[in-house]
Amino acid sequence: MHVNARKHFAIPPDERVRLAEIDPGDTGSFTAEADAHQATHDALAAIADLQYRLYAEHRHALLIVLQAMDAGGKDGTIRHVFGALSPLSAYAHAFKEPTPEEAAHDFLWRVHKVTPGHGEIAIFNRSHYEDVLVVRVHDLVPEKVWSKRYARINAFEKTLVRGNTTILKFFLHISRDEQLRRFAQRLDDPAHQWKISESDYTERAYWDDYMRAYEAVLEKTSTARAPWYVIPADRKWFRNWAVAQIVAETLRTIDPKTRAPSVDIEEIRAKYHEVERSEHGA
Ligand code: ATP
Ligand code: MG
Repeated sequence: MHVNARKHFAIPPDERVRLAEIDPGDTGSFTAEADAHQATHDALAAIADLQYRLYAEHRHALLIVLQAMDAGGKDGTIRHVFGALSPLSAYAHAFKEPTPEEAAHDFLWRVHKVTPGHGEIAIFNRSHYEDVLVVRVHDLVPEKVWSKRYARINAFEKTLVRGNTTILKFFLHISRDEQLRRFAQRLDDPAHQWKISESDYTERAYWDDYMRAYEAVLEKTSTARAPWYVIPADRKWFRNWAVAQIVAETLRTIDPKTRAPSVDIEEIRAKYHEVERSEHGA
């Protein structure tokens, strides 16, 4: 598993997925948090180094999609894994309920605008997938509209890939029990009480509908060019390890190379020496 986390957690294209058969409490070959500590640390260091090369090369973009149920750990993953990135060429974008302006446009309008440019890494906290998740679960548009969106999403992602964007999509898979435990922790911890919303509890009642909607997403939109990864996420440290590992492996595959300088270095060096001589009288 340490060798190829991408292969281990990826959902193969067109595969029927049953989330009930994937254990959210899985910790792979680790038995305790301490076992994963060094590997996570190494992956984060590799990510930071490769981000710099991605930025310097200015040829590839990396888009990371994070989806999860409420309290699934999207914010924590951004803090613990993507906190290793330099804000110089990385950003996170949270997708909320569409504003009136967004709602008056095609569902992909607001998404395309915030995709990463060459050299950049973007993290989507929720994404265009909400338009076949919450929208499907609550019938926010008719079925004949949302059912056509899977193909539209695949076509959109294909367009991004053609433009040299690598796409990684993570579903942070927590159990119902773990969600309730996290809600309880939030209630008890004044520092986290702000995170609780009325809708957390009402949405929980739709858990099974959400699982079905996620299974449809995984089956219809996990493609070779933009795969979905289902990450067992009840253990936060395992989730962090798995996501960090997959991002590091992906960046290594992109293998960004520092660009050749656009100027003649010897010429600049000669000028530099000239300036040095005149200013210091050497
Ligand atoms: P946290 O997990 O920390 O609560 P969050 O991502 O849930 O963060 P909120 O502001 O609580 O952030 O919720 C954003 C809400 O917007 C979610 O309930 C989500 O389902 C909803 N949303 C996002 N995109 C769409 C969309 N296209 N249509 C309808 N609702 C959407
Ligand atoms: Mg919320």
